[in-house]
Amino acid sequence: MTLVDRYAVFGHPIKHSKSPRIHRLFAEQTGQTLEYSAQEVPAEQFQSSVAAFFAEGGKGLNCTVPLKELAWNYADSKTERAQFSKAVNTLALQADGSILGDNTDGIGLVTDLLNNHAIPLLGMRILILGAGGASRGIIGPIIEQSPQTLVIANRTADKASQLADEFHRQGPITGYGYETLENKQFDLILNATSASLSGQLPPLPAGLLASGGNCYDLAYGNEPTAFVRWGLENHAAKSLDGLGMLVEQAAEAFFIWRGVRPKTQPVIELLNSERQS
Ligand code: NDP
Repeated sequence: MTLVDRYAVFGHPIKHSKSPRIHRLFAEQTGQTLEYSAQEVPAEQFQSSVAAFFAEGGKGLNCTVPLKELAWNYADSKTERAQFSKAVNTLALQADGSILGDNTDGIGLVTDLLNNHAIPLLGMRILILGAGGASRGIIGPIIEQSPQTLVIANRTADKASQLADEFHRQGPITGYGYETLENKQFDLILNATSASLSGQLPPLPAGLLASGGNCYDLAYGNEPTAFVRWGLENHAAKSLDGLGMLVEQAAEAFFIWRGVRPKTQPVIELLNSERQS
């Protein structure tokens, strides 16, 4: 009997996850034989569920809200980008039986911006809204692209300044509350808050987006998010949501597990066409 390699995404809630669909499309496209399922795993069951998954022959896991920090703690070793972000979204079984943790969210976002949308980061004034797990994951890969400045703005101002302090050795980063955004301008505004999930918008002053600037919401849905709509109302050259990032971070995880890089464009196009129909 041939055993099929098993992968899964753990999260809570997980019912609406697109990851199984995306990984099955990647597998089909690259001729890989594998299984990928979604499993509802609350935080208190994380440790035992991951241990059982790998003990039963699982090869790799994605971890999403609220499990990324727990996955960071679980991993035996971590890539440099995961080390800095203190959050892991990809666990991979290694040849020696140990578990490697990586964070592919940031590289997924940067790939979507640069390759799929031709939005440059080099020399740009970039603003990230939110100082939670998603923010942590994207700061390092964004700084690597040498922006002119990177600002983190957050409802709880202390969290933004603490996060900026953690990364300050890597580049020109500062963090503060929304009130300090008054009279400032940015070429790219990234919404990494979870406000969109409840149809809300952080308090953003008029004139925040520079002429010709772009907006990107890490959240995504079948309808434009509140922040994507804000971008359009504020004359963004492009106002995008995070579907492309989702597919790109999945492609990076697939590459870590299988050593094969799937084409992302056809998968993004398919998922986009489905939400438009
Ligand atoms: P966290 O819960 O870790 O952080 C949430 C952040 O949002 C905090 O900074 C919080 O501020 C802020 N926030 C929440 N509600 C509001 C509000 N009403 N107004 C202003 N700020 C608010 O969430 P994550 O960082 O894990 O996720 C953030 C978003 O990124 C989610 O929408 C998620 O879906 C998306 N995401 C998308 C990915 C993709 O592949 N496209 C990958 C990963 C995440 P405070 O600190 O003050 O509480």
